[in-house]
Amino acid sequence: MPIRFAVTRKEAVILDPGSAMQKKAIPVEVRADPLTGRTSRICHFRTLRFEKPDLTRLIEASQATCPFCPEKLLRLTPCFPAEILAEGRLVRDEMTLFPNIAPYDGLGAVATLGRRHYIPMAEIEPERIANGLALALDFFRRVRAIRHSEAVYYLLSWNYMPASGSSLIHPHLQIFASSTAPNQLREELAAAQAYASLHGAAYWDELAAAEKADGSRYFGRIGRIEWLASFAPFGVVGDVVGVVAGCRTLLDLSVEDLKAIAQGLAAAMAAYDRMGIYSFNVCFFPGRQEDEFARLRLVFSPRIYYNPVLATPDATALRTLYNESICVGFPEQIAAAVRAEFQRAED
Ligand SMILES: [Zn+2]
Repeated sequence: MPIRFAVTRKEAVILDPGSAMQKKAIPVEVRADPLTGRTSRICHFRTLRFEKPDLTRLIEASQATCPFCPEKLLRLTPCFPAEILAEGRLVRDEMTLFPNIAPYDGLGAVATLGRRHYIPMAEIEPERIANGLALALDFFRRVRAIRHSEAVYYLLSWNYMPASGSSLIHPHLQIFASSTAPNQLREELAAAQAYASLHGAAYWDELAAAEKADGSRYFGRIGRIEWLASFAPFGVVGDVVGVVAGCRTLLDLSVEDLKAIAQGLAAAMAAYDRMGIYSFNVCFFPGRQEDEFARLRLVFSPRIYYNPVLATPDATALRTLYNESICVGFPEQIAAAVRAEFQRAED
């Protein structure tokens, strides 16, 4: 098995004002992602209990001006031109997909996850998530059918609650297609292509097998999806990763896959909710249809405020400019706290 989980252990020694300036050694681990070598620091250790504030006023105040609430949606959200989507917007159940008024690329959409302005993280039903993903696939199929020039990488992300970067409380997905892969995806795909040429195997198949054999970061399999915790996470409280066996793009997903993805995401949300966390990012990482070495993955990354009173973001200079992640607990310990929810989902 050529996958290597490299850890460099370090120690910072200080004279501790909390114990009469006695010497104190503070451990730090630098972990390298087995595929790209991107490093992540395991440090700033703390208990995995976070403070969830009373959100009532924030939610009420945001509802009056929310463009995604049903009474305002059709008036305040844009439509696609007829050459992209003849009906302007797509609707499925109580969810609506329309162009992103602040797009990042030549083709970007937003989909609401229903009529409810606020849904607590642990109450977002798997059916709602699966239906939202199905609506995204409806859009991607349309984009593929017209052979749009951006229909190369089908991308989907989810920012939930302000700590994640979301400017709206109302649950919604970002759905876009692009001929330009974002940095992290491009680097991972290039590394996976190199891995496949060298070892004759798809990296993520091997990763899932290695994590399953090791067990310390493995959560289990739901349908075709292998769930595990990142060895070198992006998130300050670890990441939950789903690897979809046999899929390269979102368009390869079956209805059963959508249900399995939704079940895993709901398990992750339930687990982090128990720690007091109430915000997250999700991104899907696909390849192009022809990329045999690619496997569709999704990453769920919980978000916190370092200082809730000041709303201090967990993405500081280290993360934003050095692109270096910090995780405040050992991923294996965090995985132990998350695993029970996945075992419940499998039952
Ligand atoms: Zn709303």
